[in-house]
Amino acid sequence: MSGLALQNVVKEFGSFRAVNNVDLNVPHGTFVCMLGPSGCGKTTLLRMIAGLDLPTGGAIRLDGDDITHVPTHKRNLGMVFQSLALFPHLTVGENIAYPLRIRGAAKEDQKKRVDELLSMIHLTGYADRPVAKLSGGQRQRVAIARALAISPKLFLLDEPLSALDAKLREAMQVELRQLQQKLGITTIVVTHDQREAMTMADTVVVMNGGEIRQAASPIEIYRRPADSFVADFIGQTNLLEVQADSAGRVEVLGQPIAGLALPAGSSKGTLSVRPEDVHLTAPGAGSLSGKVTFVRDLGGTIETFVDIAGRQIVAVSTPRARPDVTVGQEVGIALTPDVCVVLKK
Ligand code: ATP
Repeated sequence: MSGLALQNVVKEFGSFRAVNNVDLNVPHGTFVCMLGPSGCGKTTLLRMIAGLDLPTGGAIRLDGDDITHVPTHKRNLGMVFQSLALFPHLTVGENIAYPLRIRGAAKEDQKKRVDELLSMIHLTGYADRPVAKLSGGQRQRVAIARALAISPKLFLLDEPLSALDAKLREAMQVELRQLQQKLGITTIVVTHDQREAMTMADTVVVMNGGEIRQAASPIEIYRRPADSFVADFIGQTNLLEVQADSAGRVEVLGQPIAGLALPAGSSKGTLSVRPEDVHLTAPGAGSLSGKVTFVRDLGGTIETFVDIAGRQIVAVSTPRARPDVTVGQEVGIALTPDVCVVLKK
């Protein structure tokens, strides 16, 4: 297969298993974001792909070749880490040309490539500027250009945008994705920011406890999460315990809801419904009834908090579809099977 393949990869630090039997195929030219809470093993996995850590089990293949034991500098990688590690005493051009210079590229080839890359990162004309005089976002782009100078087979980034402020970060996510698409380079980014992953990735890999919980497209992860961890981690959701009643129907908070099915072989599960799919109705008209406890009006969206038998459900709507409710009011909640996912407990 062309691209990267992780086969049953394990990493143990003493008796602690930081990465547990990870299998993943990253087809050539795709963009993967590894996402998960702190300590889930994503950096360790990236470090093994980079050759900075050796797996204790399994294999890593690049374009079919086993690279598990190949040293980093022979893997043909471009890497950007959070610290960027630009050389502060060098100019933008010298920083970008550095990997070419140490490989002995001719002066004119270095200059041509630097100009190409500067144009790609929208910094044409900045070659002679000291990196110390750049803004955070510009430095970020220079680090990316330097990593791409050797036209690597694989582009690896660890929390590359986390030092930037929120607005710049959002803009850079779009830039990075557009650059990757233009170059068609296989790219793996580690992030703990789910919005960042959703913006950039072809495939989002959600990890927890050293394992992959789900690897799928952003929309698949959002719409069809594999389990309640993924459902809760990606976006906002309402999670409710469900079980089969005596007639075999699925019961949510004591109310049977038609058209829902429990996971195969299971009499219990967890229902996930996204806040934008929760519709408020007149009391008694929905599948469930509750009382409004709070309304958060954020201008662009309105969140209505409803208490149902001690459980809180959030409904999100746009200002145009503002629910006509006030705190303390009884409401119904319509749950239809097409917007509910029942997950394994
Ligand atoms: P973060 O988002 O906080 O960087 P992460 O998902 O990248 O987290 P890792 O850095 O991969 O997590 O760490 C995974 C687990 O392995 C953690 O529990 C960490 O403490 C442990 N770990 C990582 N490196 C080592 C090491 N060199 N020695 C011992 N334990 C380690």
